[in-house]
Amino acid sequence: MELTDIKGIGSTRLKALNDAGIYTAFDILKLFPYKYYDFSDVGKYKYDLETPTLLQAKAIEEPKNVYFKGLNYCIAKFLDLNTNIKFNAVWYNQPYIKNVLKVDENYFIYGKTNNKKQFVVQFFSAENKVKSTIFPVYKSLNGIGQVMLKNIISEVLYNQTINSELDNIINLNDKSDIYFSLKEAYFNVHFPKDIQQLEKSKERISLEDMVALIAAEEEVVASNKVYKDFEYSSGIDLSDYKKNLPFALTNCQQNALKEIANDMQSKNPMNRLLLGDVGSGKTAVALGACYYAYKNNHQSLIMAPTEILATQHYLSAKNIFKNLNLEVALLTSSTTTNERKNILKRLVDKEIDILIGTHSLISEKVEFADLTLAITDEQHRFGVQERAMVGNKGNREIDQLIMSATPIPRSFYLMLFGGLKTSELNERPAGSPKISTHILSQGKEMEMWKYLANELKENTKCFVVVPRVEESESDNKLNSTESVLKVIQKYISPEKISVIHGKMDKKKQRIVMDEFKNGSKNILIATTVIEVGIDVPSADTIVIYDADRFGLATLHQLRGRVGRNGKEAHCYLVTNATNENSVKRLQVLKNNLNGIKIAEEDLKLRGSGTIYGTKQHGVGEVFSNFTFTTELYNQAKSLYNLLENDIKNHYKEIAKAKFKEIFKKIVLN
Ligand code: ADP
Ligand code: MG
Repeated sequence: MELTDIKGIGSTRLKALNDAGIYTAFDILKLFPYKYYDFSDVGKYKYDLETPTLLQAKAIEEPKNVYFKGLNYCIAKFLDLNTNIKFNAVWYNQPYIKNVLKVDENYFIYGKTNNKKQFVVQFFSAENKVKSTIFPVYKSLNGIGQVMLKNIISEVLYNQTINSELDNIINLNDKSDIYFSLKEAYFNVHFPKDIQQLEKSKERISLEDMVALIAAEEEVVASNKVYKDFEYSSGIDLSDYKKNLPFALTNCQQNALKEIANDMQSKNPMNRLLLGDVGSGKTAVALGACYYAYKNNHQSLIMAPTEILATQHYLSAKNIFKNLNLEVALLTSSTTTNERKNILKRLVDKEIDILIGTHSLISEKVEFADLTLAITDEQHRFGVQERAMVGNKGNREIDQLIMSATPIPRSFYLMLFGGLKTSELNERPAGSPKISTHILSQGKEMEMWKYLANELKENTKCFVVVPRVEESESDNKLNSTESVLKVIQKYISPEKISVIHGKMDKKKQRIVMDEFKNGSKNILIATTVIEVGIDVPSADTIVIYDADRFGLATLHQLRGRVGRNGKEAHCYLVTNATNENSVKRLQVLKNNLNGIKIAEEDLKLRGSGTIYGTKQHGVGEVFSNFTFTTELYNQAKSLYNLLENDIKNHYKEIAKAKFKEIFKKIVLN
C-alpha cells in the first residue's frame, strides 16, 4: 500500500512524513513507540522531586493560563482518586491544554511535583480513552501528533500485507517459548495487551532484523573472495603528497593512510571505514588515497552529503594539489549543463583524475574511463544503499572507503560491521579543542549578546543555530532565523550579520557562506544546513537556540564547527526545557567533548523514562527499543542456515536497506 492510500494522509502530512525519512507503509510500521505507560500500576500523589508517578485523578476546576517570568503555564486543580488529596497540576508552554481538559472527567496523569508541590505533567490521557493498561507513547513527528500517528499506524496494520519467510520455520505453536508471526508482532508492539507479549513481540521483530544482519555479514565475507581487475604497480610512496600539504600529518593520519594504501595494493577490493570525530582530519587522508590512485594512473571519486561540503572538499583538493599535475573536478546540482557535459566527456577521456560531488551525482549517468576508488563522506549520515550503487559505476569491483564521524559506540560497529576493516583517527591534529559549553535558560542569553557585541570588535566569528526559518504564531519562543535576527540586531550592527538556511537556493548559500568565512560578517544565523562539515577555522563561538530540540549527535556536530584553530572557543546552549531528561542530555554535552562518549551516555539516558522496569539488554534495547542480545543473534544464525538460497539473497537485499534505517535511528533521532 502507498502512503497516499492511507486515510488521513494528504499532501501536507505526506510531506511531513517524507521529511522524516518515511516513504513506505513499512516505514510507518517501524515508527515504534519510544516508551510505554503501564496503567495497571497507579501511584499516589506525594511531594517528590525525583520520581515520576502515574496518578488517577479527576479534574475539579476550570484550568487557567498564567504567564509568569517569561513562561506560560496552564494550571488546573485535580483530586487524586487514590488519596483524595487535592493538588494543582501544571503544564509548561502548552496553553492549548486549557481547551482540552474537561472538569469532572477522570484522567491518568504522569509526572512529578516541583518545589511548589505542583504536579508537573509530562503525559496525560482521559480514562475513558484508555483501551489497554499498556499505553504506547510516540514521538510526535513534524507536527503529526500522537492520536493521528496511532490512526495512521492502525490503518497500515489492517491493510498492509505483512509476511516473513521466517514465519514458516519458527515454530509459532511452541507454547513454551511463545512466538508470534511478524504481523502479529507488529500488532502487539503498537497495541500491546501485556508486557510479556510485548517483550516477545519485540524479540520477533528484532529476529527479522538480525537475520538480515547475518546475511549482510556473509556478503562482506564473500567480498574477500573477489578479485580486482586492476593493479597498483608502484610501491607506496606518498612523499610528494605529504610535501604539498600545508601541515604535517599526525601519526594516526599516517597510519590510516598506510592501511588504506595497503588495501589498495591488495588483489581484493578494499572495504574500509575511516572513523574519526569531527575535525580529526579525515579529508587529508582521503585525498592521500586519491593521490595514490592517481600515481597509479587510476581515477577516483569523493561523494559528500551536501553541496557545501563537496565544494569544501573540492577547494581543499585544489589547494593541496595546486603544484602537482593532477586534475580535479566538481560536480553538483549547481553545475551548469555545459560544464557538466564537459566534465562527463573529460571523465571518459580520462582527463580528470579526481571527481568530487554530492550524492546526487550517483543517481545520474556518470561514466569513468578507469574508476578504481570511491570515497563516501558520510559525515554522520549513513547510506549503505548509495554506496553499493557507486561501486557499480565502473562496472567493476573497486576500492571503497567510507568516512564517518558517526558518534556511536565501538561495540556497535563491531556488531554491525563484523567484516568491515576500520581505521581510526583518535588524536586531533590541532590538539584537543578547548571548547567550553554553557547551558543558558532562554532570556539569560541577552547578557551573552551584550558581552559578545564587545568581543566582535576583535573580529571573531560566531555561528547562531536555530531550528527553523520562519516565526511561528503559536509560540513566542525564539527559535527561528527571523525572530533571532530581530533580537541580535538590538545588540549588534545589522551589517555584521548574515542569515543562511536550506530554503535559499544553493548559489545564494555559497555567497553567504563566503561572506561569513572571508568577508566582513561576524555572525551567521543558520538552520542546521551548517551542521555537516562547514570549515571556518576562525569561528570561535556557537550559540544554539532551542538546543533541547536537537539530538545530541547533532549538537555535537554543531559544536564541532568551532575551536578549529586551537584557540579557546565557546558553545552556548539556549533552552526552555524544564524536563529532567532534556536537561540531563544537555549536561552530557557540557561535560564531554568526545563524540563516542557522548553517544554512550545518550544511549544510557534514552533507556530510562519508562514506567515499568523493562528488561535492559544493553545498548541494542535502547536504540531501537528492541532486543539485541547474543542469544537472539545465535538463534537468528541457526534460522538463517535453514533458509533456501534465494531467500538468503532476499535477506541480503533488505540488509542494505536495514543498515540505513538502523543508523538513521541512532544518529538522527
Ligand atoms: P573531518 O575529519 O571533520 O572531516 P577535516 O578533514 O575537515 O576534518 O579537518 C579539520 C581541520 O583540520 C581542517 O581545517 C584541516 O585543514 C585541519 N587539519 C587536518 N589535518 C591536520 C594536521 N595534520 N595538522 C593540522 N591541521 C590539520
Ligand atoms: Mg569532513
